Amino acid sequence: MNGHRRPVRLDRPPLDLWVVPILEDNYAYALTRSGRAWVVDPGAARPVISLLREQRLILDGVLITHHHGDHTAGLADLIRAFPAPVHGPADPRLPVVVEEVRPGHPLRVLDLDLVGLSTPGHAVPHLAFWLPEPKVLFTGDLLFAGGCGRVIEGSYLEMFASLESLRPLPDDAWVLPGHDYTEDNLRFAASLEPGHPEVARRLRWAAQRTRTGEVTVPSTLRTERATNPFLRVHDPAFRTACGLADLEPAQAFEALRRRKDRFG
Ligand SMILES: [Zn+2]
Repeated sequence: MNGHRRPVRLDRPPLDLWVVPILEDNYAYALTRSGRAWVVDPGAARPVISLLREQRLILDGVLITHHHGDHTAGLADLIRAFPAPVHGPADPRLPVVVEEVRPGHPLRVLDLDLVGLSTPGHAVPHLAFWLPEPKVLFTGDLLFAGGCGRVIEGSYLEMFASLESLRPLPDDAWVLPGHDYTEDNLRFAASLEPGHPEVARRLRWAAQRTRTGEVTVPSTLRTERATNPFLRVHDPAFRTACGLADLEPAQAFEALRRRKDRFG
Protein backbone atom coordinates (compact mmCIF):
# COMPACT_ATOMS: atom_id res chain seq x y z
CA MET A 1 0.00 0.00 0.00
CA ASN A 2 1.51 3.25 -1.18
CA GLY A 3 0.49 5.34 1.80
CA HIS A 4 3.17 3.70 3.97
CA ARG A 5 5.98 4.05 1.49
CA ARG A 6 8.59 6.76 1.86
CA PRO A 7 9.39 9.31 -0.84
CA VAL A 8 12.35 8.39 -3.03
CA ARG A 9 14.85 10.96 -4.27
CA LEU A 10 16.11 10.67 -7.84
CA ASP A 11 19.09 12.60 -9.12
CA ARG A 12 18.44 14.39 -12.42
CA PRO A 13 20.79 17.41 -12.53
CA PRO A 14 20.16 20.25 -12.13
CA LEU A 15 17.10 18.98 -10.23
CA ASP A 16 16.32 16.54 -7.51
CA LEU A 17 13.09 14.69 -8.25
CA TRP A 18 11.12 13.17 -5.40
CA VAL A 19 8.76 10.33 -6.13
CA VAL A 20 6.02 10.48 -3.48
CA PRO A 21 3.94 7.28 -3.31
CA ILE A 22 0.39 8.21 -2.27
CA LEU A 23 -3.05 6.56 -1.96
CA GLU A 24 -3.28 2.98 -3.25
CA ASP A 25 -1.06 3.24 -6.31
CA ASN A 26 -0.60 6.90 -7.26
CA TYR A 27 2.62 8.84 -7.57
CA ALA A 28 2.87 12.53 -6.75
CA TYR A 29 6.18 14.22 -7.47
CA ALA A 30 8.27 17.10 -6.15
CA LEU A 31 10.89 18.85 -8.26
CA THR A 32 13.43 20.61 -6.08
CA ARG A 33 16.43 22.89 -6.55
CA SER A 34 18.26 25.11 -4.09
CA GLY A 35 15.64 24.76 -1.36
CA ARG A 36 12.65 25.48 -3.60
CA ALA A 37 10.04 23.03 -4.85
CA TRP A 38 7.26 22.41 -7.34
CA VAL A 39 4.77 19.61 -6.77
CA VAL A 40 2.97 17.56 -9.43
CA ASP A 41 -0.49 15.99 -8.86
CA PRO A 42 -0.91 16.05 -5.06
CA GLY A 43 -3.70 13.48 -4.79
CA ALA A 44 -3.04 13.43 -1.03
CA ALA A 45 -1.66 16.32 1.03
CA ARG A 46 -0.04 14.75 4.06
CA PRO A 47 2.90 12.88 2.46
CA VAL A 48 3.71 15.93 0.32
CA ILE A 49 3.52 18.36 3.25
CA SER A 50 5.73 16.03 5.33
CA LEU A 51 8.33 15.94 2.58
CA LEU A 52 8.36 19.73 2.18
CA ARG A 53 8.74 20.18 5.95
CA GLU A 54 11.40 17.50 6.40
CA GLN A 55 13.48 18.85 3.53
CA ARG A 56 12.82 22.48 4.55
CA LEU A 57 11.57 23.36 1.10
CA ILE A 58 9.70 26.46 -0.05
CA LEU A 59 6.84 25.64 -2.40
CA ASP A 60 6.95 27.79 -5.55
CA GLY A 61 4.07 26.18 -7.46
CA VAL A 62 1.90 23.16 -8.13
CA LEU A 63 1.20 21.43 -11.45
CA ILE A 64 -1.98 19.47 -12.18
CA THR A 65 -2.32 17.08 -15.12
CA HIS A 66 -6.10 16.56 -14.90
CA HIS A 67 -9.10 16.93 -12.63
CA HIS A 68 -9.48 13.39 -11.22
CA GLY A 69 -9.56 13.28 -7.42
CA ASP A 70 -6.59 10.95 -7.07
CA HIS A 71 -4.47 13.72 -8.64
CA THR A 72 -6.06 16.73 -6.93
CA ALA A 73 -7.60 15.77 -3.57
CA GLY A 74 -4.60 17.07 -1.59
CA LEU A 75 -4.50 20.43 -3.36
CA ALA A 76 -6.58 22.53 -0.96
CA ASP A 77 -4.73 21.32 2.16
CA LEU A 78 -1.35 21.63 0.47
CA ILE A 79 -1.77 25.25 -0.56
CA ARG A 80 -3.30 26.11 2.81
CA ALA A 81 -0.07 24.86 4.45
CA PHE A 82 2.21 26.17 1.68
CA PRO A 83 0.51 29.00 -0.26
CA ALA A 84 1.60 28.80 -3.90
CA PRO A 85 0.07 29.23 -7.35
CA VAL A 86 -1.48 26.19 -9.01
CA HIS A 87 -1.05 25.64 -12.75
CA GLY A 88 -3.11 23.20 -14.76
CA PRO A 89 -5.64 22.72 -17.52
CA ALA A 90 -8.62 25.06 -17.87
CA ASP A 91 -11.20 22.80 -16.22
CA PRO A 92 -14.03 24.03 -13.94
CA ARG A 93 -14.04 20.63 -12.23
CA LEU A 94 -10.70 21.38 -10.50
CA PRO A 95 -11.16 21.97 -6.75
CA VAL A 96 -9.15 25.24 -6.65
CA VAL A 97 -8.56 28.14 -9.00
CA VAL A 98 -5.65 27.44 -11.33
CA GLU A 99 -3.60 29.43 -13.78
CA GLU A 100 -4.11 27.83 -17.15
CA VAL A 101 -1.08 26.12 -18.69
CA ARG A 102 -1.30 26.89 -22.36
CA PRO A 103 0.52 24.66 -24.80
CA GLY A 104 3.15 26.75 -26.57
CA HIS A 105 3.61 29.06 -23.57
CA PRO A 106 6.40 27.58 -21.44
CA LEU A 107 6.35 28.15 -17.70
CA ARG A 108 9.48 28.99 -15.72
CA VAL A 109 9.96 26.28 -13.12
CA LEU A 110 13.05 26.42 -10.90
CA ASP A 111 14.80 28.50 -13.58
CA LEU A 112 14.00 25.94 -16.28
CA ASP A 113 11.42 25.95 -19.07
CA LEU A 114 8.47 23.61 -18.59
CA VAL A 115 6.19 22.93 -21.54
CA GLY A 116 2.57 21.84 -21.17
CA LEU A 117 1.47 19.28 -23.75
CA SER A 118 -2.21 18.96 -24.52
CA THR A 119 -2.86 15.20 -24.22
CA PRO A 120 -6.63 14.55 -24.02
CA GLY A 121 -8.17 11.08 -23.97
CA HIS A 122 -8.12 9.65 -20.43
CA ALA A 123 -9.53 13.02 -19.31
CA VAL A 124 -10.48 16.04 -21.38
CA PRO A 125 -8.60 18.28 -20.85
CA HIS A 126 -5.42 16.50 -19.77
CA LEU A 127 -1.86 17.83 -19.75
CA ALA A 128 1.58 16.26 -19.74
CA PHE A 129 4.54 18.34 -18.59
CA TRP A 130 7.85 18.33 -20.43
CA LEU A 131 11.12 19.75 -19.14
CA PRO A 132 13.52 19.84 -22.14
CA GLU A 133 16.34 20.26 -19.63
CA PRO A 134 16.86 17.82 -17.86
CA LYS A 135 14.63 15.75 -20.19
CA VAL A 136 11.84 14.77 -17.82
CA LEU A 137 8.24 14.03 -18.85
CA PHE A 138 5.39 13.94 -16.33
CA THR A 139 2.68 11.95 -18.06
CA GLY A 140 -0.21 11.93 -15.56
CA ASP A 141 -2.65 9.27 -16.75
CA LEU A 142 -1.61 9.46 -20.41
CA LEU A 143 1.36 7.09 -20.45
CA PHE A 144 2.32 4.61 -17.73
CA ALA A 145 5.34 2.37 -17.36
CA GLY A 146 4.39 -0.50 -19.65
CA GLY A 147 0.90 0.82 -20.45
CA CYS A 148 -1.39 3.82 -20.85
CA GLY A 149 -4.43 5.34 -19.16
CA ARG A 150 -7.97 4.14 -19.75
CA VAL A 151 -9.90 6.14 -22.29
CA ILE A 152 -12.58 7.61 -20.06
CA GLU A 153 -13.60 11.07 -21.24
CA GLY A 154 -12.23 11.37 -24.76
CA SER A 155 -12.18 9.15 -27.82
CA TYR A 156 -9.71 6.40 -28.64
CA LEU A 157 -8.51 8.47 -31.56
CA GLU A 158 -7.81 11.43 -29.25
CA MET A 159 -5.86 9.21 -26.86
CA PHE A 160 -3.90 7.70 -29.74
CA ALA A 161 -3.09 11.18 -31.09
CA SER A 162 -1.98 12.28 -27.61
CA LEU A 163 0.45 9.35 -27.39
CA GLU A 164 1.62 10.13 -30.93
CA SER A 165 2.40 13.69 -29.88
CA LEU A 166 5.24 12.31 -27.72
CA ARG A 167 7.09 10.97 -30.75
CA PRO A 168 9.41 13.99 -31.19
CA LEU A 169 10.70 13.63 -27.62
CA PRO A 170 14.09 11.97 -27.17
CA ASP A 171 14.64 8.33 -26.25
CA ASP A 172 16.55 9.21 -23.10
CA ALA A 173 13.69 11.30 -21.65
CA TRP A 174 12.58 10.13 -18.24
CA VAL A 175 8.92 9.13 -17.96
CA LEU A 176 7.24 9.84 -14.62
CA PRO A 177 3.61 8.63 -14.67
CA GLY A 178 0.71 9.24 -12.28
CA HIS A 179 0.29 5.60 -11.23
CA ASP A 180 2.24 2.48 -10.40
CA TYR A 181 0.46 -0.05 -12.59
CA THR A 182 3.78 -1.27 -13.96
CA GLU A 183 3.61 -4.96 -13.03
CA ASP A 184 0.01 -5.34 -14.21
CA ASN A 185 0.77 -3.47 -17.43
CA LEU A 186 3.74 -5.70 -18.18
CA ARG A 187 1.72 -8.85 -17.48
CA PHE A 188 -0.60 -7.68 -20.22
CA ALA A 189 2.36 -6.89 -22.52
CA ALA A 190 3.84 -10.35 -21.85
CA SER A 191 0.50 -11.99 -22.60
CA LEU A 192 0.60 -10.44 -26.07
CA GLU A 193 4.15 -11.60 -26.78
CA PRO A 194 5.13 -14.44 -24.43
CA GLY A 195 8.53 -14.82 -26.10
CA HIS A 196 9.65 -11.17 -26.03
CA PRO A 197 12.86 -11.19 -23.94
CA GLU A 198 12.88 -7.50 -23.01
CA VAL A 199 9.22 -7.53 -21.94
CA ALA A 200 9.82 -10.69 -19.89
CA ARG A 201 12.91 -9.21 -18.24
CA ARG A 202 11.10 -5.99 -17.43
CA LEU A 203 8.13 -7.88 -15.97
CA ARG A 204 10.43 -9.87 -13.66
CA TRP A 205 12.07 -6.62 -12.55
CA ALA A 206 8.75 -4.87 -11.89
CA ALA A 207 7.28 -7.88 -10.03
CA GLN A 208 10.36 -8.01 -7.77
CA ARG A 209 10.25 -4.25 -7.06
CA THR A 210 6.52 -4.38 -6.33
CA ARG A 211 7.02 -7.32 -3.92
CA THR A 212 9.65 -5.40 -1.97
CA GLY A 213 7.66 -2.15 -1.99
CA GLU A 214 10.08 -0.23 -4.21
CA VAL A 215 8.94 2.29 -6.80
CA THR A 216 8.95 1.26 -10.47
CA VAL A 217 9.82 4.69 -11.87
CA PRO A 218 11.43 6.44 -13.62
CA SER A 219 11.05 4.79 -16.96
CA THR A 220 12.48 6.19 -20.19
CA LEU A 221 10.87 6.74 -23.55
CA ARG A 222 13.42 4.28 -24.97
CA THR A 223 12.16 1.55 -22.63
CA GLU A 224 8.52 2.41 -23.35
CA ARG A 225 9.06 2.44 -27.10
CA ALA A 226 10.65 -1.02 -26.86
CA THR A 227 8.20 -2.71 -24.47
CA ASN A 228 4.96 -0.72 -24.09
CA PRO A 229 2.28 -2.23 -26.37
CA PHE A 230 0.50 1.11 -26.79
CA LEU A 231 3.60 2.73 -28.28
CA ARG A 232 4.33 -0.20 -30.60
CA VAL A 233 1.24 -0.28 -32.80
CA HIS A 234 3.23 1.13 -35.74
CA ASP A 235 5.29 -2.06 -35.86
CA PRO A 236 3.66 -4.51 -38.32
CA ALA A 237 5.40 -7.50 -36.69
CA PHE A 238 3.98 -6.48 -33.33
CA ARG A 239 0.47 -6.06 -34.76
CA THR A 240 0.75 -9.50 -36.34
CA ALA A 241 1.83 -11.02 -33.01
CA CYS A 242 -1.30 -9.49 -31.46
CA GLY A 243 -3.56 -10.84 -34.20
CA LEU A 244 -4.16 -7.30 -35.47
CA ALA A 245 -2.23 -7.47 -38.75
CA ASP A 246 -5.16 -6.10 -40.77
CA LEU A 247 -5.61 -2.94 -38.69
CA GLU A 248 -4.12 0.52 -39.06
CA PRO A 249 -2.07 1.73 -36.04
CA ALA A 250 -4.92 3.86 -34.62
CA GLN A 251 -7.40 0.97 -34.85
CA ALA A 252 -4.86 -1.45 -33.39
CA PHE A 253 -4.40 0.97 -30.48
CA GLU A 254 -8.15 0.95 -29.79
CA ALA A 255 -8.34 -2.85 -30.02
CA LEU A 256 -5.44 -3.24 -27.57
CA ARG A 257 -6.78 -0.67 -25.13
CA ARG A 258 -10.17 -2.42 -25.10
CA ARG A 259 -8.42 -5.78 -24.62
CA LYS A 260 -6.46 -4.36 -21.68
CA ASP A 261 -9.72 -3.16 -20.06
CA ARG A 262 -10.87 -6.78 -19.96
CA PHE A 263 -7.49 -8.19 -18.88
CA GLY A 264 -7.34 -9.91 -15.45
ZN1 LIG B 1 -7.17 10.02 -13.98
